[in-house]
Order: sequence, then C-alpha cells, then structure tokens
Amino acid sequence: MKTLRECIAEAEVKKVAIGHFNISDSEGFKAVVEGARELGVPVIIGVSEGEREFIGLQEIVALVKIAQGNGFPVFINADHTYSIEKTKEAIDAGVDSVIIDLADKSFEENVSLTREIVQYANGRVLVEGELGFIGKSSKVLSEVPDGITQTTPEDAKKFVEDSGVDLFAPAVGNVHGIVKTGEPKLNIELIKAIAQSVLVPLVLHGASGNTDEEILQAINAGIRIVHINTELRLAYKEGLKDAVESGEVAPYKFMEAAVEDMRRVVVKKLKVFNKLG
Ligand SMILES: [Zn+2]
Repeated sequence: MKTLRECIAEAEVKKVAIGHFNISDSEGFKAVVEGARELGVPVIIGVSEGEREFIGLQEIVALVKIAQGNGFPVFINADHTYSIEKTKEAIDAGVDSVIIDLADKSFEENVSLTREIVQYANGRVLVEGELGFIGKSSKVLSEVPDGITQTTPEDAKKFVEDSGVDLFAPAVGNVHGIVKTGEPKLNIELIKAIAQSVLVPLVLHGASGNTDEEILQAINAGIRIVHINTELRLAYKEGLKDAVESGEVAPYKFMEAAVEDMRRVVVKKLKVFNKLG
C-alpha cells in the first residue's frame, strides 16, 4: 500500500488535493472511508485533541490500520495539537501525520518547538507546522473572528527551512468554521507566492464554507491537502435529527441516515479536490 508521503507526491503530479475530514466516532469514520472507497481516492482522517479523546487515540489508529491492511489508502492525522507531550503521544501511537499548532506563539518559539517535534518524529510520521492565525472554532460563525492574519511568503520560507516540517499550513484568507457572510475569500495570489517560496506541500485548513470554485483555484495554486470539518458536523447533526425522529430504535438502522448524509458531503468534496467532475 502507498504511504501518505507517496499519495501526496502523486497529488502533486496530478495537481489535485487529498481530502482531510475530521471525525470523532466510528460513524464519522465509516462515512469518510466509504466515501473515499466509492471514488477510489486516498483520504485522511483527522482527529483533533478533543476528537481523539472521545473516540480514543489507540482505537482510531487501530481502525485506520485495519482499513490500510485491507488495501485502502486511508491515513490518520493528529490534527491541531497544542502541546509537545500530546504530539509525541500521537507519534508514538502510530499516526501517519501530526500537526503541532503553535501558531499563537512567537515566530522563534514556534520554529524551535516545531523543530523539536520534527527531530522526535525522525521521519516516522509527517510533521505539519502552522504559521498565522485562522481561528479555532469549527462552528457556524456570524462574523470573521478577531485577530485573523495572513502568512507572508518570506516568513513561510524561513519557517519551513528553519523548522524542517514536511507539510505547511499557511494563513491565506482561510478561517476555521463557516462564516455566514462567506467572508473572507481565499487569497489565491498569496497561495501561489507561498507555494513558490517553500519546497513542501501546502495544507488548507478551514475550507468548510469556501466555494468549490475557490477551493479549485487554491488547489491549482499549490494546495495538496484540504481540511473539512464543520460541513461534516452539520451534515451529521441534520442526519441524526431525522433519524432519531423516525422512531427506529436499532442504532445500526437509525445511524444509517446520519452516516449517509456525511458520506454524501465526503463524496461531493472529494470529487472537487480530485477533479473528478
Ligand atoms: Zn485546522
């Protein structure tokens, strides 16, 4: 089976992006894996600190390993991890990639702590670093959160070179969560400039709420992994509401609708990211 690194290299050649979907239970996992299998494309399961606490780090790693053992290119990323300890714990648990999120620290501190994780990982897993603030919520927001920044190509280059990260998440007009007004738009020119100044693949966080057109432009500009969380959460909640109201009591039957609603979002997004029309 291909590794995550190989799948990303393939995405680079094809000028497409790998979808990254956050889950926190086995229903979410099932929806993402089935969606990717339907299209025959690789996919990344994302679990933030809170999400992996709910499903269990060892448990979700085991589920992903089983899928990999069956020949499916499904990978697991320890999403936004705010401490060195939790990041090391995820690496030791056998994830495929980790995100050490020190975007709220000073540039120097961010570089040195991220570097510590790169050295600890020692090539066992891919390490993603972040620079710039894009908010921390995975909800529907009425306005753009305070303090949102954009990463300059110069800072991006220095950060990637000094930290040694394998993947880089810049702030390019993306925001975690869905901002109702549709603002801000992705800064496509900035993505292009950053892609030209760093040698590692770029990751777009907070892509829920961005239009397909915007995301395609971002992929063409150099994005190789796209994160979706909020849209999947909303689909889950809606599907679950209908299911619970149906009066069915067998969980494997009433959960089917929620899984189906999530799966539909996953397929729709993966078609865009992989340019499958
Ligand atoms: Zn994110």
